[in-house]
Amino acid sequence: PRLANQIAAGEVVERPASVIKELLENSLDAGATRLEVDVDSGGIKRIRIRDNGKGIDKEDLALALARHATSKIHALEDLESVATLGFRGEALASISSVARLQLTSSRDESGKGWQVSAEGREMQAQLAPAAHPRGTTVDVRDLFFNTPARRKFLRTEKTEFNRIDDTVKRLALSRFDVSISLRHNGKGVHNLRAGSGRVEMERRVAQLCGPAFMQNALHIEVERSGLRLWGWVAEPAFSRSQADLQFFYVNGRAIRDKVVSHAVRRAFADVLYHGRHPAFVLYLELDPASVDVNVHPTKHEVRFRDSRLVHDFLFGSLHRALADVRP
Ligand code: ADP
Ligand code: MG
Repeated sequence: PRLANQIAAGEVVERPASVIKELLENSLDAGATRLEVDVDSGGIKRIRIRDNGKGIDKEDLALALARHATSKIHALEDLESVATLGFRGEALASISSVARLQLTSSRDESGKGWQVSAEGREMQAQLAPAAHPRGTTVDVRDLFFNTPARRKFLRTEKTEFNRIDDTVKRLALSRFDVSISLRHNGKGVHNLRAGSGRVEMERRVAQLCGPAFMQNALHIEVERSGLRLWGWVAEPAFSRSQADLQFFYVNGRAIRDKVVSHAVRRAFADVLYHGRHPAFVLYLELDPASVDVNVHPTKHEVRFRDSRLVHDFLFGSLHRALADVRP
């Protein structure tokens, strides 16, 4: 189990931001409507995520950290199968193998819950009672304290925090129905209220992408032959220093894709732009059967069944929308 955990950890737990991504996904899976993310020193020292989801039963707490107790992987020779299987169902075990982790949870409104801790590979399987509202708190300290080789790959605290911020933004722009806060070294960075109306969504986009983006943004909404594109695009001119203001979601999932970026870039270049990065927050919705999202479990990749159709739809929709405001 130890070996398996550490191999798995290499896949899922690359850096603080990837820990946060896994933990937030767990919280959302648990039906949380409020997520609080607290990090210290770029997340390297400490990551604490608290949610108001359904919580974890006392009996399941230790199990949640010990998935690999029933390990599938027994030796390094099995690395090949590691690559193909991916690591669903093993995030907590992986994280706890390379950090000091404390998991506290409660299933009800009694204010009472249970806590379990693990430090590196040595799990203190001891359950202790703990005060906690309904929901779960995962506290991860000293990431890679026992794997110096991995720790060496971490960048500066500032860089690691920027990746965390990006991860939180990416998620916040896909779940307007969930309230999210982010704090770094005790200082509030984002405090986003839940709300899925147009006004509330635009407020959140402005908070995350800056007021300049929202002021310049064009709202678009196009639907044709089973494809729907909506969101906001802005002239890139204002975003000279914000080359990373590019968010694209396929059926609610953040992705990076060549077909998509090519279509978007061409539409912008054609109508009003030469060279610089366009800024956008866009959502493409289509029949789940016409897109394969399981290309890689941890990467943001998709494969469209008919990539030509998607490309032309994106290009056409954006081209028309942009040309309307900039004839
Ligand atoms: P996976 O999410 O793929 O099942 P994880 O290792 O990420 O695997 O989590 C293990 C299990 O722990 C989950 O299946 C879930 O039952 C439980 N769990 C983890 N985080 C939470 C949470 N925030 N709220 C409720 N249950 C959780
Ligand atoms: Mg998970």
